[in-house]
Amino acid sequence: MDKKIVITYGENPLKMVNEVLEKADLKSLIPVGTTIGIKPNLVVSKPSCLGATTSPEMVSALIEYLKSYGFDDIVILESSWIGDSTSRAFKVCGYEDISKKYGVPLFDIKKDTYSVKTVNGISMEISNKVLDVGFLINMPVLKGHCQTYITGALKNLKGCISDREKRRFHTLGLHKPIAYLNKVVKSDFILVDGLCGDLDFEEGGNPVKMNRIFCGTDPVLIDAYIASCMGYKPQDIDYIKIASDIGVGSCDINNADIIVVSKDTTVAQPASSRKVQQLAGYIDQKGACSACYANLIQALARLNDKGMLRQFKNKSIKIGQGYKGKECDGIGIGSCTRGLSRNIKGCPPSTPDILEFLMNDVL
Ligand code: SF4
Repeated sequence: MDKKIVITYGENPLKMVNEVLEKADLKSLIPVGTTIGIKPNLVVSKPSCLGATTSPEMVSALIEYLKSYGFDDIVILESSWIGDSTSRAFKVCGYEDISKKYGVPLFDIKKDTYSVKTVNGISMEISNKVLDVGFLINMPVLKGHCQTYITGALKNLKGCISDREKRRFHTLGLHKPIAYLNKVVKSDFILVDGLCGDLDFEEGGNPVKMNRIFCGTDPVLIDAYIASCMGYKPQDIDYIKIASDIGVGSCDINNADIIVVSKDTTVAQPASSRKVQQLAGYIDQKGACSACYANLIQALARLNDKGMLRQFKNKSIKIGQGYKGKECDGIGIGSCTRGLSRNIKGCPPSTPDILEFLMNDVL
């Protein structure tokens, strides 16, 4: 499987999606005349700006790309979580408009029939429509999850099973069945919405503006990268480890070929949720780029999980282009703050690098 992840940063989803798809050459991967299934994450009926659901602008951009290369047999498939209606999610999240504009049907997996597939003794009811699709494009959101810490490509396929099966997955502890599900249903291509995902909850409400979109063909590698963006090691997430062990893909993020198309130049905005605001209280930012700032927020969230955040009270972690050329005492994040007495370089530095710096070099 390809070890490539193509990533770009910015605030224009149409341009960004096109950039990564052209770089990844998606069109060359799709068999001629096949049915293409697009599987977004519409777990709840909430607009994507709240951090839970896949951006409709990204889906529109993907459809425009596909149609421009003559791929017209496209369907959008989803099943919201047990407490919500998929048709409501399609409406609230802007997918009804997409369907009308591009003539692409919406398919509610909750109303489908299912086939039982068995992997290593675990049986699961899989949507027949999903099984019939010739090329599946998985579009998860880069976000946190209250039970599994993160949710990305592997877990997004939970929307391809019956509601009864979703309940059973929970009784089985989620990790193993999620990994095994990905043995049955193959994601042929993964396009990740990392524009604005939730800090730690799959339902949204604490969005972190991250301004990134990335894609690849290995769902395990993509999820390993998502884990790293959120300050976790791939091994911290059981379902990533199991999926790697059973051959769904590779979690070797250190040897991934990460291709950056465009760097982030957008300026971080004030946090909109209380949880993110609390973390932002530890930061002294002057003109920080959104991606850099988001990586720091994720690192602070992990320090908080470890009970170490309070040690940074009154330490004021500095970040942003306003610190360029300044030489003084303090903790600085990113190459712009290289004049500070303690600094982690990178433009932007990754979440794991920031975390390690704060834990090992600062404390
Ligand atoms: S180091 Fe400076 S220029 Fe680079 S991403 Fe961070 S804030 Fe932006």
